[in-house]
Amino acid sequence: MDKTLTLGESLRQSGVSRRGFLKFCTATASLMGLAPMMAPRIAAALEQARRPSVIWLSFQECTGCTESMTRSHAPTLEGLILNHISLDYHHTLQAASGDAAEHAREQAMQENHGNYVLVVDGSLPDENGAGYSTIAGISNLDMLRETAEGAAAIISVGTCAAYGGLPYAQPNPTGAIPVSEALPGRSIVNVPGCPPIPTVITGVLAHFLTFGGMPELDDLNRPMTFYGQSIHDRCYRRPFYDRGQFAETFDDEGARKGWCLYRLGCKGPMTYNACATIKWNQGTSWPVESGHGCLGCSEPEFWDVGGFYKALSAPTGDVSRAAAFGALAGAAVALGAGVAGKRKQAEAQEQHERVTVDDLGEK
Ligand code: SF4
Ligand code: SF4
Repeated sequence: MDKTLTLGESLRQSGVSRRGFLKFCTATASLMGLAPMMAPRIAAALEQARRPSVIWLSFQECTGCTESMTRSHAPTLEGLILNHISLDYHHTLQAASGDAAEHAREQAMQENHGNYVLVVDGSLPDENGAGYSTIAGISNLDMLRETAEGAAAIISVGTCAAYGGLPYAQPNPTGAIPVSEALPGRSIVNVPGCPPIPTVITGVLAHFLTFGGMPELDDLNRPMTFYGQSIHDRCYRRPFYDRGQFAETFDDEGARKGWCLYRLGCKGPMTYNACATIKWNQGTSWPVESGHGCLGCSEPEFWDVGGFYKALSAPTGDVSRAAAFGALAGAAVALGAGVAGKRKQAEAQEQHERVTVDDLGEK
């Protein structure tokens, strides 16, 4: 594809209608939490935007983040953006291999110095474990530092890049670290999730294209637009939680009636992500709608903290009120310490205290 084309020209050449483009801009404005009146401004900016050079580095990861991105059907937000950016280097998707692949990265860095977007998925072995993961004989750490030097923006895609993820889970044999730890002092946008919602990744890219910068971030450097509210706050099962109606097993009457999955281990109250609103697979469904609790995948250390099927509070008939509350508070604080900032810990603990009291009242 011709790299001199603007994004608008590129879209038109691919047969995207003006109507389709404006619809995309309106959806983008909505996703970014902007008023609909911003859609024309987004359209004008995107129309003129040069296709940005993107270098995508994949380190210790499972390729799930890339899989998530490529499982979209046109014409979607992710399809429109990803088909029309200049993805100059991507370990998994590029046709080139060996020297040619490394040459593509070096060329993209030279030609677009100071202007390209660096996307990273996967964590990196630390200095001591550099030999655990190398590409073209270059350690992940060296490749990241070299590529980040001339980047206009750095986006950590997925929980591994954002917080270390699965490679970072105990006992962390490679000494895995997140991108932020490898690049101290650099501004990095985290787009966590295992994997992240593709629309969220492209929403962040669209924001950069439109406004030339990154969106407002929370205390874990996640875009507020997508991570500003908990799964629990937007969950359609929330009325059942508030009424104290919980499924106790995955096949009981409560589960069949769509009651809250809290006692089956749902981490929705501690998890900040957009699954409940944007959903997955072109808005078809999301885990809680499919009958499975949230695992907390967009939060640090979700693999190690809590246990997937263990309720954050597990009051039982033979546990005293004080003991049950202590267990709950411990679980909430432990998870909260790992997964969110102080503000979110306070919110989460307040919610869990409420449900524990409700639960104990039933016993
Ligand atoms: S605990 Fe989980 S299932 Fe229940 S309301 Fe919250 S997010 Fe939804
Ligand atoms: S529902 Fe929870 S575990 Fe599932 S994808 Fe969303 S944030 Fe991750």
